[in-house]
Amino acid sequence: MFRGNHPRFAGHLDGKVALVTGSSSGIGLGIARRFAAEGASVVLNGIEPAAQIRPIVESIRQETGAEVIYVRADLSKPSGINRLVERTQKRFGKIDILVNNAGIQHVDSIENFPLEKWNKLIALHLTAPFLLMKAVVPGMKERGWGRIINIGSAHSKTASVHKAAYVAAKHGVSGLGKVAAKETAEDGITVNTICPGYVDTPLVRKQIPQHAARRGMTEEQVVRDVILAQQHTKEFVDVSEVAALANFLCTDEAKSVTGASLSIDGGWTA
Ligand code: NAD
Repeated sequence: MFRGNHPRFAGHLDGKVALVTGSSSGIGLGIARRFAAEGASVVLNGIEPAAQIRPIVESIRQETGAEVIYVRADLSKPSGINRLVERTQKRFGKIDILVNNAGIQHVDSIENFPLEKWNKLIALHLTAPFLLMKAVVPGMKERGWGRIINIGSAHSKTASVHKAAYVAAKHGVSGLGKVAAKETAEDGITVNTICPGYVDTPLVRKQIPQHAARRGMTEEQVVRDVILAQQHTKEFVDVSEVAALANFLCTDEAKSVTGASLSIDGGWTA
């Protein structure tokens, strides 16, 4: 457990504003908690009603003393992206750290993959990071400091069957990050993509029954023989490990790490 900035701890992110998309749950929430513990003001985002997320906001405030707000916004739509940026600017006046994390999954063979699912995944995983980068890069350039972190996936580097849109979008966001890194390299900004293997979150848990039904296996068999078959450590990655890597990317010691796609996948893509 980290000391956080409460009541007197001055963290390395003191004075910074971090916007973490899809941070009402899972990896995004873990990253947001870590940033708050390091002194940042944090904007949480998700699609759940505010009342549902209020206890999470309160718990981060109490644990860390950080300023925390939640903005409900559907980032698969440009209107949702505008709302998120406007609410953040209104409350904090700037965005120093952007984590493009919000994500969903749809599992189907290409011939059965519905176009609307394809469009939604591409909008959320690829177009939203592009639009959010457009929104935050000018301010980061003005201030001469910024950190953009995309949450890609092992699927930014390799493929699995039945995940056409996810794999295409995750490869895409890694490429987008490389372009953004080169365009901002002289402005004190870094842009990187973290590529986790399987992390134990609601997103993965939802896939287990689908796999089991499709393959005629028990859920335990799916975890052991399908999901963790890829991961050579035979363990899920913990959310805290991804948060620690995101935190490192925000330190000054990581100022030359840019344009990278960093695996944290138990050797899956080695
Ligand atoms: P999760 O289901 O726990 O959380 C998803 C978050 O995204 C929630 O906060 C939800 O509100 C938000 N969200 C969903 N649709 C949204 C929308 N339209 N607009 C805004 N927010 C939306 O998922 P997770 O496992 O923590 O995944 C987070 C990211 O990490 C995703 O991009 C995912 O692809 C990636 N990832 C996850 C794993 C894993 O094993 N869990 C592995 C590699 C990469």
